Amino acid sequence: MASVFCVANQKGGVGKTTTCVNLAAGLAQVGKRVLLVDLDPQGNATMGSGVDKRGLQPSVYQVLLGMSSVAEARRHSDNAGYDVLGANRELAGAEVELVDQERREHRLKDALHAVRHDYDFVLIDSPPALGLLTLNGLCAAQGVIVPMQCEYFALEGLTDLVNTVRQVHARLNPDLTLIGLLRVMFDPRITLQQQVSEQLKTHFGSKVFNAVIPRNVRLAEAPSYGQPGVVFDRSSRGAQAYVEFAQEMVQRVSAPIPTPASAPSPATAEIRR
Ligand code: ATP
Ligand code: MG
Repeated sequence: MASVFCVANQKGGVGKTTTCVNLAAGLAQVGKRVLLVDLDPQGNATMGSGVDKRGLQPSVYQVLLGMSSVAEARRHSDNAGYDVLGANRELAGAEVELVDQERREHRLKDALHAVRHDYDFVLIDSPPALGLLTLNGLCAAQGVIVPMQCEYFALEGLTDLVNTVRQVHARLNPDLTLIGLLRVMFDPRITLQQQVSEQLKTHFGSKVFNAVIPRNVRLAEAPSYGQPGVVFDRSSRGAQAYVEFAQEMVQRVSAPIPTPASAPSPATAEIRR
């Protein structure tokens, strides 16, 4: 049965889509069956996976509104090696249209149920906001992956996100945990980035992934070719770092880190509370 992860951070441009697309491709390269769900009306993960968002129908929009199944709406990307439940601008309407619908936060979860045996991993890319679309991602997932740049304001935003995860855990999805923080666009020459990275490790302990994604231009170039960086230039430093991250995720899924119930630790307890 699929492990479902939502890549989230309400801050814009922090590397959510790059992480989602490259993690999906990295997992596909080690033989995992992967579905990427694009929950962002920008459709960047869709395009970056080599699926044309223009005229895409049905898309995740029809799925959320109960007009299509995931099986009908998904596309296979030969470029990327995984399936894509794509998004385009139409999805922006869902944020409003879902408001008076039944089980509005659980629409994606309910829809994914039918394909849960088709995949080892389902990865959800979310928009830069904590609205109903992101909530659907958090309710469908068992874990949240948070890509972040190591800068001062990133820590501030993290508190809001941790609180949201806590609330969703308490009210909507008791399975949800914060799987980990992924340091992205990292430049070790910048002292502030090193300091923030150390603070993160002190505060969040093993919740900080070992893999660190460097700032690497090949990762930024890849989407314009409709390919994940991991496929576009697999020898680049950025691609190699995402492959390492994919391996780390496989390990975490097969041997989850202890939860506070079995091994209390201030850092993990803080996130779970
Ligand atoms: P949004 O909030 O708008 O959805 P996002 O969090 O999904 O943004 P991305 O689109 O993944 O962020 O990344 C923002 C920009 O930074 C993109 O142009 C992307 O190509 C670039 N980028 C992401 N990661 C890296 C990296 N490690 N090195 C260099 N450029 C990167
Ligand atoms: Mg994005």
